[in-house]
Amino acid sequence: MKKDDIVTLIIEDFSTEGLGIGHSEGLTLFVKDTIIGDVAEVKVMKMKKTYGYARLLRILTPSPDRVEAPCPVARPCGGCQLQEMKYDAQLRFKEQKVRNNLQRIGGFIDPPMEPIIGMNHPFRYRNKAQFPISRDRNGKLIAGFYAGRTHTVIDCRDCLLGAKVNQTILDIVLNHMDKYHIQPYDEATGKGLVRHVMIRVSSEMLCEENASGQIMVCVVINGTSLPESERLVQALCAIPGMASITLNINRERTNVIMGKQIKLLWGQEFIEDTIGGIRFRISPLSFYQVNPRQTEKLYGKALEYANLTGQETVWDLYCGIGTISLFLAQKARAVYGVEIVPDAIRDARQNAQLNHITNAEFFVGKAEEVLPEKYEKEGIHADVIVVDPPRKGCEQSVLDTMLKIRPERIVYVSCDSATLARDLKYLCAGGYELRKVCPTEMFANSCHVENVALMSYER
Ligand code: SAH
Repeated sequence: MKKDDIVTLIIEDFSTEGLGIGHSEGLTLFVKDTIIGDVAEVKVMKMKKTYGYARLLRILTPSPDRVEAPCPVARPCGGCQLQEMKYDAQLRFKEQKVRNNLQRIGGFIDPPMEPIIGMNHPFRYRNKAQFPISRDRNGKLIAGFYAGRTHTVIDCRDCLLGAKVNQTILDIVLNHMDKYHIQPYDEATGKGLVRHVMIRVSSEMLCEENASGQIMVCVVINGTSLPESERLVQALCAIPGMASITLNINRERTNVIMGKQIKLLWGQEFIEDTIGGIRFRISPLSFYQVNPRQTEKLYGKALEYANLTGQETVWDLYCGIGTISLFLAQKARAVYGVEIVPDAIRDARQNAQLNHITNAEFFVGKAEEVLPEKYEKEGIHADVIVVDPPRKGCEQSVLDTMLKIRPERIVYVSCDSATLARDLKYLCAGGYELRKVCPTEMFANSCHVENVALMSYER
């Protein structure tokens, strides 16, 4: 098989990134925009020794799980890999992906999995979006998302995963840029001013019928100020719920979206949101779970696994703005949170105060430094440790220190089941036993899946 060959494939499987997988002449082909069960005619684009990539030409027989994508740019946009799949089938795919990783990477023959916690409405759930700003071929200003694997911007101001108000905000920003001849940033040359518009909304804004709540707009610029910003503020303020308008300064030649500095243009530097009866203050640079409806279920599961009676000392590593910490603090003796982003820890401390929670304490620093240091110097104790690391998982020194502290239970919240499986395997080799894993839907229509795992140590 070689480039430009046209072949007919039965799509039998899905890669972890959501590409359809089929076989022909003993070779494996990855095909974007196909789903398991499709019979498709595809054109080979690139061939390696045993596998290759092909482009979908046409579907000959659609999979029984196939649906028409509600979003007009579902295919070119890199965000939703599974939108053309029935939601039930998406959930089955995600469960299977987690099981596979636990078996193949973790070595757990029959992982103790609970059924995935799915969503009722898999759209309009995201409270945050970061829209790159660019120009189309005709020079028209556009805002949207990167096409899969590229940095070409697809014009899409109303992402169906996000709040409806995003479009209104983006239209105002683009109008402002047009009117005052403000240039979008160009990654190739490093010139131009406006890079991204980040929008965050409180949960109420995601309510379709009757949106209320708070909105944050943060314009990321390659400079120190935005021309005529008072006029932009004036236009944005007309949107009900507008609470925070800021600039983020990012002058680096990097594809990291946000810089470190925030400049307040109007309102407060934060918005507030409530999850499970706890009120959270969220700054532009702080991490906050993107799917509030499901987050409550996720944290509920973490709390269930932590099995607290009120006597426990709990450590919450990678705590962000203290969301899980404060959830657990209501049922624990004391909770200690560790987080690398200083703004997030500032939020966490204020969130404790805001909710009159006095048994939670927060430390700024890397989990892999703070935890070993606290253990070596103070010989800290923990009954339960909760970790919620970024995709790359826990550093080995975090795992090693946990094994030394040896809490009765470890609750591992993870957005990447491959690194989760790797870390669980390591902890099991250190004497822990995997009790339960619960996949939780946080990213409907994408191929990502969140998990909560419970490990325990029997003395
Ligand atoms: N538990 C929180 C945040 C989870 S996201 C919540 O549910 O909202 C992961 C967090 O880990 C982010 O806030 C990120 O800033 C932080 N982080 C990343 N690397 C870290 C490290 N090495 N040490 C401590 N925190 C880190």
